[in-house]
Amino acid sequence: MKVAFLGPPGAGKGTQAQAVSRERKVPHISTGDILREAVQTGTPTGLKARAYVTAGKLVPDEIVVDIVAERLARPDCKQGFLLDGFPRTLGQAKALDAILAKSSMRLDAMLYYAVSDEVVVDRISGRRLCKSCGANYHVKYIAPRKSGVCDRCGGGLYQRADDKPETVKERLRVYREQTAELIDYYRANGLLKEISADNSVEAVRADTNRVLDAVAVR
Ligand code: ADP
Ligand code: AMP
Repeated sequence: MKVAFLGPPGAGKGTQAQAVSRERKVPHISTGDILREAVQTGTPTGLKARAYVTAGKLVPDEIVVDIVAERLARPDCKQGFLLDGFPRTLGQAKALDAILAKSSMRLDAMLYYAVSDEVVVDRISGRRLCKSCGANYHVKYIAPRKSGVCDRCGGGLYQRADDKPETVKERLRVYREQTAELIDYYRANGLLKEISADNSVEAVRADTNRVLDAVAVR
């Protein structure tokens, strides 16, 4: 299963991709997670990416494409992968086609999580992550049993720096300006599968599974 997840920040891509990864044993590759980790640990890539991530801008294509090419070349991706947050520009989409073509592969589907702006803002403002295990919560919709504490590992929960309102506004602007055109690109090549992401996590998960079960896997 070679699938990618498209949609605005906060649409619920990561939440769904994590569940699919667990249930179907396919690696979940989130460029946002990889970049945040690189920034946090101060790797050469992290140092280059830091200013873009902090400002809510896209990291230049060549940096992100190299990260993805290296990750997709690892053996665990031979049978499939879930790309979350990549591609995000037309240049990245074409680069992905080229990376996959080199190994005689192509995407099976692009899942597009369609969601309204109000829902996105509500979801992002309540998003909390575990410092230790990365588990994803929402203060209203997916609340931990004890406020600020991870149910799975007891780690502390934090808010992403780029989930603050000023940066969210910029990320939504960037999405509209540079990423939304991918909807047409993947509709034109027949890979786009639209999912109504305004619904509950369980309803979106059911739709995601229905779409994945119907996708012709190469
Ligand atoms: P993305 O990966 O698209 O940026 P996330 O998966 O991190 O989005 O979800 C954003 C926030 O919304 C998180 O706090 C998550 O727990 C919550 N969330 C995700 N899907 C839903 C949903 N269907 N209903 C309510 N909250 C959701
Ligand atoms: P995300 O976790 O997907 O919301 O991404 C967080 C941030 O990481 C984005 O605002 C960008 O700065 C950067 N980023 C993640 N994926 C990409 C990508 N495919 N291209 C460029 N920048 C990215």
